[in-house]
Amino acid sequence: MNIEVVTTIPELFDQFKEYGIVGRAIKTGKINFDVINLRNYAHDLHKTTDDYAYGTGIGMVMKVEPVFEMFDEYLKSHQRPWIVYPSPQGETFDQSKAFELSQKDDVMFICGRYEGVDERIMSIVDEEISIGDFVISGGETITMVFVEAMARMIPGVVGKEVSVENDSFFSGLLDHANYTRPQSYRDMDVPEVLRSGDHAKIGKYLLKDAIKRTIEKRPDLFLKRDLSIEEKAAIIALLREKKEC
Ligand code: SAH
Repeated sequence: MNIEVVTTIPELFDQFKEYGIVGRAIKTGKINFDVINLRNYAHDLHKTTDDYAYGTGIGMVMKVEPVFEMFDEYLKSHQRPWIVYPSPQGETFDQSKAFELSQKDDVMFICGRYEGVDERIMSIVDEEISIGDFVISGGETITMVFVEAMARMIPGVVGKEVSVENDSFFSGLLDHANYTRPQSYRDMDVPEVLRSGDHAKIGKYLLKDAIKRTIEKRPDLFLKRDLSIEEKAAIIALLREKKEC
């Protein structure tokens, strides 16, 4: 898929592009990642991309012309992308949004700064997406979070050392607890079943653990999904264990 990021601080993405899962997705051609410097579309010597807010005069607003001129130029050689404006006024990002965006061919993120963007820029925006109910000073780090979550959803991007299927929220449950060596550390042991080699037993145990953690930490997640037969069985087993205690 193609991802474009429009920003006034392209340098912020230099390291992001190189490392981790996103870096590998770019190197293996699963993602074409382009950073567009909005300052290239400013007209004055100082490469100004912001101006005073009409009405109040308080705070700076990102100018409309550089964004539109960038977009005109972009469309000369590309098809129209899905345009996302990271904004606290959008719907909150989650795993299903990450999946939905990862299914698109082209997604462009327009990173706001200052007080945000001139409202006329919204005429080319398809979707505003928020990272949560708080405000930070720019869309760049938020775009990195969105892109990283999307990259994990693209088949073949995450190697077998990470299992996306078990990630929290992928199946609507939280991830089960994970352990690695040593088997025993300061009187804390890895559960015996995980060392048993019995894959059917391990599978049941891990599902039960995922359900237990979801009940304890995020019971609201159950309101958003139906339960499979295996999950119902795991809940019954958990209730039985509780009764026996
Ligand atoms: N005055 C604006 C916030 C501007 S913050 C308002 O209250 O709506 C500057 C930029 O940071 C925004 O344009 C947006 O791109 C980004 N940003 C800040 N907080 C965000 C959030 N919670 N989710 C997504 N983007 C955010």
